[in-house]
Amino acid sequence: MEFEEHFDYPFKAILIGNSAVGKTNILSRFHKNEFSLNTQTTIGVEFGSRILEIKGKKIQLKVWDTAGQEIFRSITQSYYRGSNGAFIVYDITNEDSFNELENWIVEFQKNAQESAVPMIIGNKCDLEKDRKIPKEKGEKFAKKNKALFMETSAKDGTNIEEVFQMLATEILNVF
Ligand code: GDP
Ligand code: MG
Repeated sequence: MEFEEHFDYPFKAILIGNSAVGKTNILSRFHKNEFSLNTQTTIGVEFGSRILEIKGKKIQLKVWDTAGQEIFRSITQSYYRGSNGAFIVYDITNEDSFNELENWIVEFQKNAQESAVPMIIGNKCDLEKDRKIPKEKGEKFAKKNKALFMETSAKDGTNIEEVFQMLATEILNVF
């Protein structure tokens, strides 16, 4: 169904973080309510968009996903340009993906506008038995970097709506 929707603000958010942490599935869960065991690594940048209602305002949230270029230095400055916020994603079962957050946040601060809001996401929280990173560790890292924080599962949908709502609300607050 294709129709024109009215909105008050267009906001851009980006997804960054190591490969295989679940960025593409977080986006497709948000955008189409779909999850896939075998996400195709497509070339280029893709986005999904939805209208959210926050504090009586209609927010168009366009979310951009990197595709197959998740080595942090290889993401070009233009990807960050104009973004109002970023989801910096790690996998709670993968220590490397958590340790790389530091690099991702530096890259974000270097390239995004000053007012852009960072949000750390610990994804795959359905895999409790394989957890390597305690929730408190993620929270502490986020706090230190003045970022929002939440754990999600793109697989079962836990907190997916919530992270998009939370980031859009904070973007609206600082706008
Ligand atoms: P990306 O490289 O960061 O875009 O990661 P993908 O979205 O392609 O996901 C990588 C792999 O992790 C795929 O096999 C997904 O099915 C799986 N995956 C993504 N999110 C979750 C999640 O929340 N829970 C579980 N159990 N697996 C996930
Ligand atoms: Mg991907």
